[in-house]
Amino acid sequence: MKLIMLGAPGAGKGTQAKMIAAKYQIPHISTGDIFRSNIKNGTELGRKAKEYMDQGLLVPDELTVDLVIDRLAQDDCQKGYILDGFPRTIPQAEALTAALAKRGEKMDFAIDVDVPDENIVSRMSGRRACTGCGATYHIVHNPSKKGELCEVCGEPLVLRDDDKPETVQKRLSVYHEQTQPLIEYYGGQGILRTVDGAQPMDDVFAAITKILEA
Ligand code: AMP
Repeated sequence: MKLIMLGAPGAGKGTQAKMIAAKYQIPHISTGDIFRSNIKNGTELGRKAKEYMDQGLLVPDELTVDLVIDRLAQDDCQKGYILDGFPRTIPQAEALTAALAKRGEKMDFAIDVDVPDENIVSRMSGRRACTGCGATYHIVHNPSKKGELCEVCGEPLVLRDDDKPETVQKRLSVYHEQTQPLIEYYGGQGILRTVDGAQPMDDVFAAITKILEA
C-alpha cells in the first residue's frame, strides 16, 4: 500500500500517518522529520533546510526530491509506505510520479485531511513536540500521559519554532499557493480521497481505514 497524506500544516496528517503506519506495518516517511533530525545532528542538509523552515518557507525541491526518491528505494519500502509532508509542490509530485513509473509502480491513494484555516492557527498553538524523539502531541486533542514530558522517551515537550502563530500564518499561505494544487493533481489521477479532519482524531482514523479497506 502506497499512500500520500495531504493537508494543511496542523491538519493532523502526521498523527494519522503514524497511526496508519503502525496499523498496516509500513514505514512512515516524513520529510519534516528527516529535516529535523538533520538539524539536530548538525548536518549540512540540516543547516540549509533550517534557513527555510524557520521562516515558514518550503525547503527547495533540489534538496528534497532526491532525498525521498532514494528513501523509497530502500528495502523496507518494498511492501509500501506512507508519505507525510511530501510531495508539497507540483514539481515534487511530478518527480515522484516519474520515479515510480520507471519501476512500473504508482501511488494507491492521496488522502486529503481537510481542516478549515480558522481551526488551524488555534490547533497549532496547542501542538507540542518532543525535543528527543520528535513525537507530537496536542495539549487538548492528544495530550501526553506524562504531562510536559514525552510519553515515548521522557524528554521535554516544546512548541516548535515553526508552530508559533506568526510562522503558522506564513506556512498556511505557502500551503495554499504551492501545496493545494496537488489536490487537483491527484484528483486528476483518480486517487484523491478527502476526509473531514475537523472530527475527533479517532473518527478521522476510522474514515481513512474505511477508504483503505473498501
Ligand atoms: P512538517 O513537519 O511536514 O510540517 O514540515 C516542517 C517544515 O519542513 C515545512 O514547513 C518545510 O519548511 C519543510 N518541509 C517538509 N517537507 C517538505 C517538502 N516536501 N518540501 C519542502 N519543504 C518541506
